[in-house]
Amino acid sequence: MEINKLQRELTIWLNERGLNSKTINEWIQLSILMEEVGETSSVLTKGKGNLGEEIADVIISAVCLGISKQINVQSEIKKKLKELQGRKSYNVDGHIRITHV
Ligand SMILES: [Mg+2]
Repeated sequence: MEINKLQRELTIWLNERGLNSKTINEWIQLSILMEEVGETSSVLTKGKGNLGEEIADVIISAVCLGISKQINVQSEIKKKLKELQGRKSYNVDGHIRITHV
């Protein structure tokens, strides 16, 4: 996985703009992440825009939130992936869902 590399590059990019874990406001960063999730939704519901670009915005915004809280995002993703791989899938109203029981 290259999430660590992404996190390092984003940290440098943020630092060049005077932002770091002490100066990033996590609530503003969370709002930015939610904006990007909304833009992703708009691509699907309105059929306008670039879905790949919006997914990238969501991931970048989420990693920046992780940076603001000094979280190693790659480590957390690895742990979560292992947990997800151990879960069963369920059919809910014709859709396959992988979730907690
Ligand atoms: Mg966007």
